[in-house]
Amino acid sequence: MAEVAVPNDRNNPYETALENFDAAADALDLPESIRAMIKYPERVLIVALPVRMDNGEVRCFTGYRVQHSTARGPAKGGIRYHPQVTLDEVKALATAMTWKCAVVNVPFGGGKGGVTCNPKEMSPSELERLTRRYTASILPLIGPEKDIPAPDVYTNPQMMAWIMDTYSMMRANGYPVWGVVTGKPLSVGGCAGRDEATGRGVFYTLECALEHLRIPMKGAQVVLQGFGKTGSVAALLLHSHQAKVIAVSDTRGGVYSDKGLDIPQLVEYKRKTGSVAGFPGGEPISSEDLLALECEVLIPAALENAINGDNAKRVRAKVIAEAANGPLTREADTILEGKGVFIIPDILCNAGGVTVSYFEWVQNQQHMSWDLHEVHERLEQVLKRAFWEVVELRSQRSVSMRLAALMLAIQRVADAVKVRGLYP
Ligand code: NAD
Repeated sequence: MAEVAVPNDRNNPYETALENFDAAADALDLPESIRAMIKYPERVLIVALPVRMDNGEVRCFTGYRVQHSTARGPAKGGIRYHPQVTLDEVKALATAMTWKCAVVNVPFGGGKGGVTCNPKEMSPSELERLTRRYTASILPLIGPEKDIPAPDVYTNPQMMAWIMDTYSMMRANGYPVWGVVTGKPLSVGGCAGRDEATGRGVFYTLECALEHLRIPMKGAQVVLQGFGKTGSVAALLLHSHQAKVIAVSDTRGGVYSDKGLDIPQLVEYKRKTGSVAGFPGGEPISSEDLLALECEVLIPAALENAINGDNAKRVRAKVIAEAANGPLTREADTILEGKGVFIIPDILCNAGGVTVSYFEWVQNQQHMSWDLHEVHERLEQVLKRAFWEVVELRSQRSVSMRLAALMLAIQRVADAVKVRGLYP
C-alpha cells in the first residue's frame, strides 16, 4: 500500500505536502506534464506592511498570499496571523485547501494568506490598521471571482468585515462587495451556521464512518482532545445523538467519566471558567492518558502533531476523526494504520468550514440568504457524499482513507486542467 506522509515535527510542512502529492500522483499514474501544472502554487505574493503602532512608531510586518490552484474555481483559504508564519507554511496550507475543496467537490481552488505578527500583543486599532494595509497590498490577487480569503488562526469575523470594507472602498467606490471574503459577521453578509460548521462536518463524517463500520452511535464511547470551536460543537452533536463522550481535554487539563460526561453542562462550565478542567461531573485526566483510553472514537481537535511516534502505540480507538489539521505525525499514521484504525483524514473530516464558506459566497453572489436549516441540510449532503466517494475509492484501490481522499481530490483538479485544454 502506498504511504502518504503527514506533517512531522522535523519536516518542513511544504515538503510534506509535496511528498503527499507525489504519493497520490504515483497511485493515480498521473503524467509528469500534468503533475508539473498542479503540484506547485500558481501565484505567490510577499508584501511589506508598514503599520503605525499606538505609540507612534512605524513597524513593518511581512505578509503573504499564495494561490495554489485556480483550476476548479477562485482560490479559497484563510488568513493566519501568527509570529511563526512562514512562506512555506502558507504554501503548504494553500496546497491543502486545493485538495480540501476538491475532495468535497466545491468549485473552488486553494489559497492561503498570513502575516508574521503577534496579534496577542497588538491593540484592536493596530490590528485594524494591519488588516486594512494587508488587504490593500494583496488587492491585485483577491476578488469574488479570483481569490476569497476567510478567517484562520487568530483572525476573526471583525477582521473579515475590515477586509470587505477596504476592498469595497478601493475597488467599488464603497459599494459593498460581500463576496470578496467569507466568515463575515451576519450583518455584512455572513452565513448562518458558519461558526459551528467545522464541528458539524466532523459529526457528519463520523456518522458515516460508524455506519460503515457497523458501530452503533448510541452508546459509542468518544474521547476528544480540544474543546474549542470545533471540538465542542462535535461533542454536543454526538451527545445529542446518544454517543457517550467519556473524556475531554483542553490546554488547562482534562475530565473523564466512564458513564459519559454531560456535554451541555460542560459547555456551560467552560463558558464560565474558561476551561473544562475541574468540571465537577467527572474526574481529572491528563491529555496523554486521555489519548490512551479505550474507546470507539478519538477526535483530535486541538493541534498539529498531537498524536506522534511516542504516544500512537497507546491509542486504543477504533476510529480517529481528524478534526484538527494534521493531528497525526507520519510515524503515528503508520503505527495506527498498521493497527487497523479507521482514520477520517483532515481534508475530509474538517471540510465543513470551507463548505459553509462556499455557501456564504454563493448567497453573497446571489444577494440572498438561506436559513440555518437549509445550511445544515446542504452541508450534510456535501460531506456525506464526499465521505462515501472516498470510501468507494479506498475499497477499489485498496489504499488508506488518507490516500484515497488525496487521490480523489488530485484527480478532480487534473480533470479540470485537462478539459479546460490547459493540458499540453
Ligand atoms: P480553538 O482555538 O477554538 O480550539 C482549540 C482547542 O484545543 C482549545 O480548547 C484549546 O484549549 C485546545 N488545546 C490546545 N492545545 C491543547 C493540548 N495540548 N491539549 C489539549 N487541548 C489543547 O480552535 P478550533 O477552531 O476549534 O480549531 C481546532 C483545530 O481544528 C485546529 O487544528 C484548526 O486548524 C482545525 N480547523 C478548524 C476550522 C474552523 O473552522 N474553526 C476549520 C478547519 C480546521
